[in-house]
Amino acid sequence: MKRASPILSFLGAAGTVTGSRFLVEHAGTSVLVDCGLFQGRKELRLRNWAPFPADPDSIDAVVLTHAHIDHCGYLPALVRDGFRGPVLCSPATAELVPIMLRDSARLQEEEASYAQRKGYSKHHPPRPLYTGEDAEAAIELLRSVDFGAEHPVADGFRTWLRPAGHILGSATVELAVGDRRVLFTGDLGRPNHPILRPPPPMPAVDVLVTESTYGGRTHDDMDEGIEQLADLIRRTAARGGSIVIPAFAVDRTEVVLLALGRLVREGRIPRLPIYADSPMALAVLDVYRRAMVAGSDEIRAGFGDDDPFAAAGELQEVPDTDASKALHDVPYPSIIISASGMASGGRVLHHLANRLPDPRNAVVLAGFQAPGTRGERLSSGADTVKMFGRYVPVRAEVLTLRCFSVHADEPELLAWLSTAPRSPDVAYVVHGEAEASAAMHDAITQAQGWTVVVPTHRERVRID
Ligand SMILES: [Zn+2]
Repeated sequence: MKRASPILSFLGAAGTVTGSRFLVEHAGTSVLVDCGLFQGRKELRLRNWAPFPADPDSIDAVVLTHAHIDHCGYLPALVRDGFRGPVLCSPATAELVPIMLRDSARLQEEEASYAQRKGYSKHHPPRPLYTGEDAEAAIELLRSVDFGAEHPVADGFRTWLRPAGHILGSATVELAVGDRRVLFTGDLGRPNHPILRPPPPMPAVDVLVTESTYGGRTHDDMDEGIEQLADLIRRTAARGGSIVIPAFAVDRTEVVLLALGRLVREGRIPRLPIYADSPMALAVLDVYRRAMVAGSDEIRAGFGDDDPFAAAGELQEVPDTDASKALHDVPYPSIIISASGMASGGRVLHHLANRLPDPRNAVVLAGFQAPGTRGERLSSGADTVKMFGRYVPVRAEVLTLRCFSVHADEPELLAWLSTAPRSPDVAYVVHGEAEASAAMHDAITQAQGWTVVVPTHRERVRID
């Protein structure tokens, strides 16, 4: 009797950009690729609170593409609810995920207790989505596997991880199940990332699950973007203001610091104090430094033993919340880099609440801003943003820079897909807002002539 076909279920990041979770089931074994948190709009965030669509203790293993929270941030809840299998990921991802999950748990706990004190929670009583203890239990399950080699995952499943060039440790995940090969791009990087090498060519697979964050879009030119940043820093410093940069703790902080270093070295901006106000970003900076000094295969040539992030001037690390609050009173122009990148939480909220009302200041949004986030409201010119239950007027100058993106834009993604040695039977387009995924669907169909589908949330497909 013929065995049943493997089934692929899109449990997240279908029709939206966050909550990456893809379940592959075959012959009684289940493997989950990514276990991300939903972020952004409320109806999406509410999915984090719903029971996981598959029984967590029926899942045999998880494979992670990378350490961003929309790809790994649900793990503590999955483990709390019964998942006991291994979590396979690349070596650098295994270093970054603990930093991310501990921070995520702390944010959840802080937000719940703050909401309880201020009485504005949606939950009665306010409770965190998961705790630090749940995060530690998830961290215990991480298993680091090398890039390039074949690794067993679970009964009948094997995997290969290859660098994706998106953030340190990021991988494309190829799964072999039965006689089928499925490739998940995770988040695909850009060929010109200043620190990371570009991803190797796409392998030959039967089914492709590709991201589409920037479907229909081409990124701004890097040099032009850096010139805009330099202009903004010069005029903000001249009027006595400070610059707040909400930055994703992983990679964006590194890329921004390298750019600031270049501008200072070339004499294009004054040397201002730079405060890196995110304990998580500082921990991540260390992981990058170590990879650079160790000459990791993921890192481009040309980074020597010198601290590559020191060039911008003295980087002042802000270890605790008291020191962070003291930055509110710094009277001279400075640059404050703080998480989270979409201003959805973290210390940057206090800096924004403090700096946004003063027109001398500036805010630089340096990454993707998911719909419904404060970052997106700021980026689209809102004159108020709501923080801590009250509205804050936006009088500071706001600059949105798309050149620092660590996602391939449409032409870059198409160029990578064109390296495939053969056409997959079907390409599923995920990890994009509806419009972006639709644009990527059309672009791949046109450029490659493949069968391309934008799956819906919780859709199940056979992969035979
Ligand atoms: Zn990512």
